[in-house]
Amino acid sequence: MNLILLGPPNAGKGTQAKKLFADFHIPQISTGDILRKAVADGTEMGKIAGPLMAAGQYVPDDVVIGIVKERLRQADVANGFVLDGFPRTPAQADALDKMLSGLGKHLDAVISLEVPHKTLVERGSGRRVCPADGSVYHVDQSPPKRAGFCDKCGTGLVQRPDDMPDVIEKRLQKYDAETSPLKDFYAKKGLLKSVDGVGSPDGIYEEIKAAAGKGRR
Ligand SMILES: [Zn+2]
Repeated sequence: MNLILLGPPNAGKGTQAKKLFADFHIPQISTGDILRKAVADGTEMGKIAGPLMAAGQYVPDDVVIGIVKERLRQADVANGFVLDGFPRTPAQADALDKMLSGLGKHLDAVISLEVPHKTLVERGSGRRVCPADGSVYHVDQSPPKRAGFCDKCGTGLVQRPDDMPDVIEKRLQKYDAETSPLKDFYAKKGLLKSVDGVGSPDGIYEEIKAAAGKGRR
């Protein structure tokens, strides 16, 4: 089963990708993770991507397409994959089509997790991090034992600038604007499936499986 998972930060993609992996042994291929690892490892690709990512710019299509191509040749994608963070544009989607047909594969579905901005802002803005050891908490979903302080080391927790409500809202607007041409691209091919991303993770997962044609009948 070959899927693309679309959704903004905090839509729950990671949780759903883990469930898909557990059931179908299809790995989540996150281009962001691969790029960050390449930068950390100091590979050729990492040397190109690192400064761009640090400046908040996109890594050029040919570099991103190249890393996805490499990744799709690895043995663990025999049963399929869940792409996350790629493609970003119709041009990248075209490149993916060519890549997949070259490998004798095709996409089964493009799942778009739909979550209202208000909910995403609530999820993101409740995050608190420990500046000493990087532990992550959420004021509602996973609060520390003593409000405002790290369970592990007792350091005062902070809210990162990226987790401020107005910053999150801006990021979501940018995401929507960038993603709509991609959604149109896949809607025209009949592959786009919208799934309501609000509710229990298990319920959402059933919806995703149904959208991918693997649901219970
Ligand atoms: Zn700590």
